[in-house]
Amino acid sequence: MKRSSDAAGGQETNGQGPAALCRPVEILGLPVHPLTMEGAVAAICRAWQEERVFQVITANVEILAAGLADGEVGRLIREGEMVTADGAGVLLAARLSGFSLPERVAGYDLLLAALKEAERQGVSVFFLGARPEVLQAALARIRELFPHLLLCGSHHGYFREEEEAAIAAEIKLRRPRLLVVALGAPRQDKWIYRHKRELPPCVAMGVGGSLDVLAGKARRAPRWMQRAGLEWLYRLLRQPSRLARVYVIPLFLFKVLGKRLAAGSRA
Ligand code: UDP
Repeated sequence: MKRSSDAAGGQETNGQGPAALCRPVEILGLPVHPLTMEGAVAAICRAWQEERVFQVITANVEILAAGLADGEVGRLIREGEMVTADGAGVLLAARLSGFSLPERVAGYDLLLAALKEAERQGVSVFFLGARPEVLQAALARIRELFPHLLLCGSHHGYFREEEEAAIAAEIKLRRPRLLVVALGAPRQDKWIYRHKRELPPCVAMGVGGSLDVLAGKARRAPRWMQRAGLEWLYRLLRQPSRLARVYVIPLFLFKVLGKRLAAGSRA
């Protein structure tokens, strides 16, 4: 099994500035950085020293599948400064591709770790997304968890297209160094990608339903299900409407396996 050297620590190996990461592994041509949680947080901290937008994509199989089906999602994954393996399905897809990723770096866990560092380092944070009442409840919880965090602004996620420019302008004015976007994937990732040029230098991360969890409106799967790689099943059982989204998971994994078998038979 191939393994990227230095991967787990997120060391510089491609010489693209202080926040440059270890080389990604490729799953059906889509990059995923082989990072531990510690390595991902270290990369975020290094990115705070830089004058650019550092887009973080916490990728599950659904997003990778969207990356094959939707050209813009494919581009944003390829151009993303950091792509982490959000779900157990991505670890499996990597194994089927002949790589080993060190561990899951789930969006919710990465968000909490980034907020902890932001509080410690005095980094300002802007939150965009979720229903207005969910956002307020999540912010109240965040203030409890991180009482010294510098909150420089927030906006709920139910805005019209014509309001987008004003929201981006407000973010620019507030100059957050950490921008948390919770519009669901891949919409949140597209939002960051489309506004990359107007945004102030910051770490911009899509966090899916994390604000709902912080607000107590949604729950994460029990630890044993997370460890068994069954978080997707828990979310499906609680929200059966997700069925229309999760069917892509086995299709994607079969595609990965098919490519591996085809490569094996040519060798
Ligand atoms: N959301 C939003 N605006 C929208 C649609 C969704 O702010 O137009 C929010 C929604 O309220 C929720 C999050 O985006 O807080 C999506 O959560 P979900 O669990 O569907 O995302 P996933 O983790 O699957 O990407």
